[in-house]
This record gives sequence, C-alpha cells and structure tokens, in this order.
Amino acid sequence: MKFRKPYIIAGPCSAETEDQVFNIANHIKDDIDIFRAGIWKPRTSPNSFEGVGLIGLEWLKKIQFKYKLKVATEVATPQHVESCLSAGIDVLWIGARTTVNPFYVQEIAESLRGVDIPVYVKNPIHPELGLWLGALERLDNVGIKKLSAVHRGFYNYGNSAYRNNPKWEVPIKLRKESPNTPIICDPSHISGNHILIEEISQIAMDIDFDGLMLEVHNSPNLALSDSNQQITPKAFKNILKNLIVSQSKLNDNNVKQELNFLRNQINIFDTELIQLLSKRNDIVREIAYLKKQNQLTVFQIERWFEILKTRTELGTKLKLDNQMVAEIYELIHKYSILLQTRIIR
Ligand code: PEP
Ligand code: MN
Repeated sequence: MKFRKPYIIAGPCSAETEDQVFNIANHIKDDIDIFRAGIWKPRTSPNSFEGVGLIGLEWLKKIQFKYKLKVATEVATPQHVESCLSAGIDVLWIGARTTVNPFYVQEIAESLRGVDIPVYVKNPIHPELGLWLGALERLDNVGIKKLSAVHRGFYNYGNSAYRNNPKWEVPIKLRKESPNTPIICDPSHISGNHILIEEISQIAMDIDFDGLMLEVHNSPNLALSDSNQQITPKAFKNILKNLIVSQSKLNDNNVKQELNFLRNQINIFDTELIQLLSKRNDIVREIAYLKKQNQLTVFQIERWFEILKTRTELGTKLKLDNQMVAEIYELIHKYSILLQTRIIR
C-alpha cells in the first residue's frame, strides 16, 4: 500500500512565552509543514487569557528563521492582517467565531486584496455550510487562491463526548460543492479532550481529508488556553506514527473487481430499501385517509414511542447501531407525519 503524507499544521493553541513556542517548535519541527500559534485569542469568557498580542509575531518570526518553518496565526480584524503581513507571517487562518460573520470576513478579505498568502478558513461555530462556503468565496473574490477549509466541529448544546460535534456530513458536503478546496481536520477543537484526538485524526484520514491541525503544548496541564485538548510533542509523534493513510485512488484491478462485486450487492439492497419505503408510504397514505375520516390527530405519541422501541430493539438483535436505527426512524416518522398532514389538510 502506498502512503501519502497528510499535511500537518501543529503548535500550541496560544503562544505564551518565547521559551514555550521555541520548546514546542524544537520538538516537532521535523514532523510538520506549518507551525501554528494563536496570538490574539477569541475567548468565550472575558476573564480568560486573550493572547500575548504583537510580541507573539516576533517569536513566530524567530521560529520561522531558526527552523526554516512556515508559521501561521489567527486573524480576526484588518489590523491583525496588517500586522501579520508586515511581520511576514506565511499563513493566516480565520477562526470559527469570525467565519460566522460575513461583515468580519469581508473586512478581512478587503485587507488581503492583491496579497498572495495562503488562508485557512475554519468552519463557523454552527453547522451552516453556506456561511463556510461564503467565507471562502469572499476570499477567492479578492484574489486569494491558496485557500483551505479547516473542519473544527460545531457547537454542541448538552452532553456529548465531543467539545464540538464533528458532523462529518458538513465537510463532506463542502468537498462536494468545492472539490478543489483542501480540507484540514482540527481534531483538537472537535474533541476538546486529548483522549479522542487519535481516533478523530484517523477518521479524517479514512474519509480522505488532506491534513490535520493539532494543538501541541510542552506542558498541556499548564497551558493558558485549551489545556484539556493539547497534547505533548511525544503524544503528537505517536499519533502521526500510528496514523494509517490509505491511497484514495484504486489502481489494483483485482481489488477493483472485488469492490465492484460488493458494491453491486449494496446497489441491490439499496433498491430494495427504496422500494420498501415506497410501499410503506402507500400504507401511510391509507392511514392518513382513515384518520381524516375519523377526525383523529396525525401524531400519537404512544405510537411513536412504540415504533422507536421495537425498531431499535430489533436493530440491536441484528447488530445494528442503536443510534443509527433511532435516527433513521426519526426521519422516517418525520416524513410520514408530513405526508399525512398534507393529505388531511
Ligand atoms: C484555535 O485554533 O485555537 C481556535 C481558537 O480555534 P477555533 O476558531 O476553531 O475555535
Ligand atoms: Mn485552541
């Protein structure tokens, strides 16, 4: 199997001291394509560490010079852009809290008009693909051609294993809409927790993303921002070592044949699934007419609970993922209700 090296951007969440950034860069310089460090930090709470500011640019310059590394930082205003351009920073990224606002993105884009610098655009906090694509388009419109998207997950309300829900379908849709835009996954902000980073990095490789942005800190416990999710240089190297990067193009004819054979079976099952859904819909229509004649409400909660319970139980017996069956039935039921409402009205 041929391995393709993913593009790697790594470094601390925030530059904290000159020693800290040098210590980290020195450990990881041979494993990365770009060194990252935030110097202006958009923080949820005003009492959190908000970055070292301009002095951080000088540290990044020194790292760039000493280790011949490309360096990147986050920009959120035209003033940030101006400072980065005059310092000679190689790559800029736009954070999730900035991508949400087209006014901010447009201002940043204007300040970059005519400049040939790579820009990475993080997904907006909430899963709105249009905003993410719109931000990329605004930058493209001012002549930025080296654009990449960074998938850092989406705000989660309530309990979840992730700090930010990955919602993989959103970056996959972005790939469909904009096939030439590289997608870099940021497992650090998705997980919010160092334990899940390896798993998320592997998923990103399995679905053929182009690279990873990882937060690495010399002493994660003492980090001034995002301390739970930062990993040590040693853990970082281990993750890279264990990463399985498969080739995306299929060249072997035997494998191609075997894959086709299996895919044909999937095609048959999918046809049957759709035919069954259509037959199910015929019955839903009959039920709607019956409810209409008898003036019954469309939605009956006991029936919904019974469907959910029996279907997930059967799914579990047949070794299907419980959550998957529940979500499929939520959709089936939602459209069943829609169809009935339309008929009854
Ligand atoms: C960061 O990369 O440190 C950062 C603040 O990211 P995001 O904009 O994804 O929250
Ligand atoms: Mn961070």
